[in-house]
Amino acid sequence: MQVALVTVGDELLAGETVNTNATWLAEQLVARGVDIERITTVPDRVADIARVVNEYHAEYDAVVVTGGLGPTHDDLTMEGIAAAFGRTLEPNDEALAWLETHGGYAREDLTDGTAEIPAGAQPLHNDAGVAPGCIISSTYVLPGVPAEMKAMFERIEDEFSGTIEHVTTVAVDEPESALLDRFEELRARFDVAVGSYPGELVRVKISGTDASVVEAATEWFIERVTTA
Ligand code: ATP
Ligand code: MG
Repeated sequence: MQVALVTVGDELLAGETVNTNATWLAEQLVARGVDIERITTVPDRVADIARVVNEYHAEYDAVVVTGGLGPTHDDLTMEGIAAAFGRTLEPNDEALAWLETHGGYAREDLTDGTAEIPAGAQPLHNDAGVAPGCIISSTYVLPGVPAEMKAMFERIEDEFSGTIEHVTTVAVDEPESALLDRFEELRARFDVAVGSYPGELVRVKISGTDASVVEAATEWFIERVTTA
């Protein structure tokens, strides 16, 4: 399953907030076997949100969006999602009823717009906050506050699946450029993907869908490099 992540927020683009939602979601989804094809951050601007969601919806199996929910002036995500799918925004009765019974909020006390989602979308209740998320056309819209996002993700995680990859990591104490011949032979001999991440040591990631092949490839590689 191929998924794109869209994180919404001016503060992310300004470097004021670290985009932990993207890394957390990517890690959860990859652990379920999902291929993350895009992680894109867009400003709090309806047209930008709509354009990216529209494009990714056409390209991938699902889109996960976080940030910019709720009724404040800079929370424009639902408007952007509605625009992407040519819908209007409507107060959602099921979301309002859930907020009354679970949140103890009377409808008249809620700020206008709190429970508005695109017409025809399925609401996602917010166990750790107020603003609901939603599901519309394989697009999952979650809050920006990490605790709220994580709680809401639990409600949808079973929708995501794929082929689980087996991964090993080898820390190599050689310059990356010296490893090219062994990378080449490793990839020729075994049906694995090889990632090379230089730092103080070179972290080599060997992955594939068959655990025994990954194990054999890792053993072969370790015998031919200087490990840390
Ligand atoms: P609420 O429903 O509470 O208004 P929201 O969905 O509107 O939440 P935002 O207004 O976008 O969320 O962001 C609220 C806060 O959540 C931000 O100030 C920031 O601290 C945090 N946040 C938002 N997006 C991210 C992200 N991608 N990674 C980490 N933290 C984030
Ligand atoms: Mg907000």
